[in-house]
Amino acid sequence: MQLLRRIWKDPVWSAVIAALLVAVGLSVWAQVKGLWPAVGRTFASAASWTTAASTVANWILLLMGICVLAVVVVGVMLLWAALTTSAGDTTPVVHKYVEDRFLGLVWRWKYGRDGTIYDLSVFCPACDYQIRPVTHTSWTDPDTTMFECDDCGHKVGPLRGSQYDVESQVERKIQKNLRNQTRPGTEA
Ligand SMILES: [Zn+2]
Repeated sequence: MQLLRRIWKDPVWSAVIAALLVAVGLSVWAQVKGLWPAVGRTFASAASWTTAASTVANWILLLMGICVLAVVVVGVMLLWAALTTSAGDTTPVVHKYVEDRFLGLVWRWKYGRDGTIYDLSVFCPACDYQIRPVTHTSWTDPDTTMFECDDCGHKVGPLRGSQYDVESQVERKIQKNLRNQTRPGTEA
């Protein structure tokens, strides 16, 4: 289906398909009108004309040959360009960068079809147990978030901002690394 749509969108192929449809339509119309004998006669005379030899200057033949060659070359180039560009568009984005260390913690995430980051989770840098962040809110001070491992007791924090703030900060660090093509795991 994908290939059909691509061929239909391609200017060369859609022209070929349109020409075929017109030919089929014309033959059906001729059949209905009972015009087949006349069409046959026309084709017969056309055939005899085609096979009959004629004296044509060689430079005309040469010119025609060059024209045909040019049309074929341009057609192939257009088809190639159309096929390669649409093939690039349909290829899904595959990221292998799904883990890194930020703020003294291990972070893992997934990518959506359009490349957006989701399912960001945080793990203990000492034992790799998943951490449940706890945000401390107060009337007087800004929010802080504590990252404490329930398994080995390793503590990171309190970090400034709510859990959402810290995750947003990490997500933007990931996006920055993706843009800059930085090698993962470079932060100590
Ligand atoms: Zn731990």
